Amino acid sequence: MDTSLANRLAVRDLAVVWHPCTQMHDHETLPMLPIASAEGAWLTGHDGKRYLDAVSSWWTCLLGHRHPRIVAALKDQLDRLDHVMLAGFTHEPAIELAEELVRITPAGLDRVFYADNGSSAIEVALKLSFHYWRNLGRGERTRFIALSGGYHGETLGALSVTDVALYRETYAPLLMQPIFARSPDAYESEPGESAAECAQRRLREMRALLEHNAHEVCAVIVEPLVQCAGGMRMHDAGYLTGLRALCDEFDVHLIADEIAVGFGRTGTLFACEQGNIAPDFLCLSKGLTGGTLPLSAVLTTQTVYAAFYAEYSAGKAFLHSHSYTGNPIACRAALATLHVLRDEPVLERNRALATHLAAKLAPLVDHPHVADVRQTGMIAAIELVRDKKTRAPFPANERRGLRVYRHGLERGAVLRPLGNVVYFMPPFCITPDEIDFMVEVAAEGIDIAVA
Ligand SMILES: *Cc1c(COP(=O)(O)O)cnc(C)c1O
Repeated sequence: MDTSLANRLAVRDLAVVWHPCTQMHDHETLPMLPIASAEGAWLTGHDGKRYLDAVSSWWTCLLGHRHPRIVAALKDQLDRLDHVMLAGFTHEPAIELAEELVRITPAGLDRVFYADNGSSAIEVALKLSFHYWRNLGRGERTRFIALSGGYHGETLGALSVTDVALYRETYAPLLMQPIFARSPDAYESEPGESAAECAQRRLREMRALLEHNAHEVCAVIVEPLVQCAGGMRMHDAGYLTGLRALCDEFDVHLIADEIAVGFGRTGTLFACEQGNIAPDFLCLSKGLTGGTLPLSAVLTTQTVYAAFYAEYSAGKAFLHSHSYTGNPIACRAALATLHVLRDEPVLERNRALATHLAAKLAPLVDHPHVADVRQTGMIAAIELVRDKKTRAPFPANERRGLRVYRHGLERGAVLRPLGNVVYFMPPFCITPDEIDFMVEVAAEGIDIAVA
């Protein structure tokens, strides 16, 4: 451990690095923490201090840091093939990963298009959907339906279908105008209305939207079960079932963005399974490589694929690419991740952990500044409010969540609230004792934050 090294790294960092999703001025008072190593659920700083990674490093670290099987696969792949462009060439990792993704995702998703981060997977899905209709002679379909509170990434196309004001508002003049439908978010249900009833009411609204607009709509895009960056808002699985039926009835595509919720986060391998549906496009990233390398995949149907398959001169090909499309090292990391999910009882273990987490969180329901404690599988969230009765929120500029974050760092836990929503999305290797610690630190932080 070397405190002076940690300090020197922080100073050098702040002189040259521009950090993501950060007002850099905050770091005049907020510490910049140089991390030296990580193992399992823990990060270790250069000063020797340890931090429980309660948010899986932005939801990427699925199984725990440096999982031995992923590390071994990466080392092996580095001795074989670093990279080759995926146009005209292929390699075993890309093929095997595509086969495995087709095998484990809902039936009917039989084609895999690779990209290299979540936002670019969304761009691919939006472009494929539009291009599909165009190839069918339906070029008048140029719009997308997105949900309030949804988040799909930061590139201009993905941001266009995002409805989180903090990220969208500034760039609104540059964006496509989707049609926004109200989210089935159970937190916004009417008094006395169940989550399932709320979902049905939102489906009736969606039907009205489609009756009016379907002729110009390519696809509806959703984050199944949990709208994550929008504040870990959760909805009833019946919404997915109903939405699939509506998309079929009105002949528009359904894009499921499982970039955050895929690979077991919600209790099933994919969130769509809980609505018993298969989307037309399934976007995957984040946990795909177990948190080691950027990679994303868009799965789609044979029907979509067939609409692009023609003589070159027909001009129907999908001429979209990223330099690192299907990078072999990233694909090996993903394969190793999927093999762990295949060979070990990860979901079963998660069920026990989720039950333990729920029991630990239960007392917070009575907290005078907590309006809601919600959980879907291994994702849990606590909604802090100024007034418990009216659910009036704390003004955003009071930055209550930041106080929870600061307290977490002091105690050795990475909690990074979304506004006034304190949440947990830990790596699956977390133990019951570590869950107790995580919730204890959050509860202390909440008391400090609302004081
Ligand atoms: C993180 C996220 C994205 C964007 O992925 P990036 O890799 O950050 O570009 C898209 N959709 C959802 C649901 C996400 O959580």
